[in-house]
Amino acid sequence: MAKSKIRPGFFKVANLKRMFVASFFGTHLAPQFIRRAESPSDEALGGFDYLVDAEYFNSLVEQNTGLKRPAASVLINNGQIAHERVIQQLQSMGHNLGIERQLTDIDRITVHHTVSGQNPSIASVNNWWTNRSDGSVWTRAGYHFLIRGDGSIWQLVPIHARSNGAGNPLNVRPSPNIRSIHIAFAGDFRAPALPTQEAIDSFGFLCELLLGNSQLTNLYDASAHIVGHRMWRNGGANDCPGVPRTTYLSWV
Ligand SMILES: [Zn+2]
Repeated sequence: MAKSKIRPGFFKVANLKRMFVASFFGTHLAPQFIRRAESPSDEALGGFDYLVDAEYFNSLVEQNTGLKRPAASVLINNGQIAHERVIQQLQSMGHNLGIERQLTDIDRITVHHTVSGQNPSIASVNNWWTNRSDGSVWTRAGYHFLIRGDGSIWQLVPIHARSNGAGNPLNVRPSPNIRSIHIAFAGDFRAPALPTQEAIDSFGFLCELLLGNSQLTNLYDASAHIVGHRMWRNGGANDCPGVPRTTYLSWV
């Protein structure tokens, strides 16, 4: 196969994840796992395109970096991450929520802690949001995912719907909630407390599922795309999610 021609600056941002795949492994890729799209329509849309087999890609990542990645890029089906470790709990609060954003709108994972016990019932978590002490009415949880101290991962809101987990006092555009998948650790992690090892492992696993997902084309870089709630509001050191950014980034 002829060596790929990559023209700098020729890729749309949405293609960066695939560009990374193609450039990082370059000549190591077997020809059957990479192809150049040559149809006129693809050319008109931005030139070269690379399609890489997810399982093969992930095995290469592990061999070359030691980074453990999901066995394959999982599907997002009707807003739900389709993986056995992600427990579906959309129920009445989430399952009827329509499509409020495109998956390509998503370019941040925003991390929270609940300032609660580490193993709350899911009903009680949903209840916090729909019966808020300030009297405001919420129709859904403020997190797409909740990770409990026992390591269980619960999806509370479909990914195609907004979860209003962050205010926007800094007036960022696009807004934090349009851009974010919100993930909360159940518990209170203002220093020196940390989540359980089970919760930490599940957080890393969930982030890898999302960053490696081929449908989330603008979410792929842990150091650039994972932020804490406090970063949307210039919060203090102990502000949500409690632990420092360097700490939770080290868990991915
Ligand atoms: Zn928060």
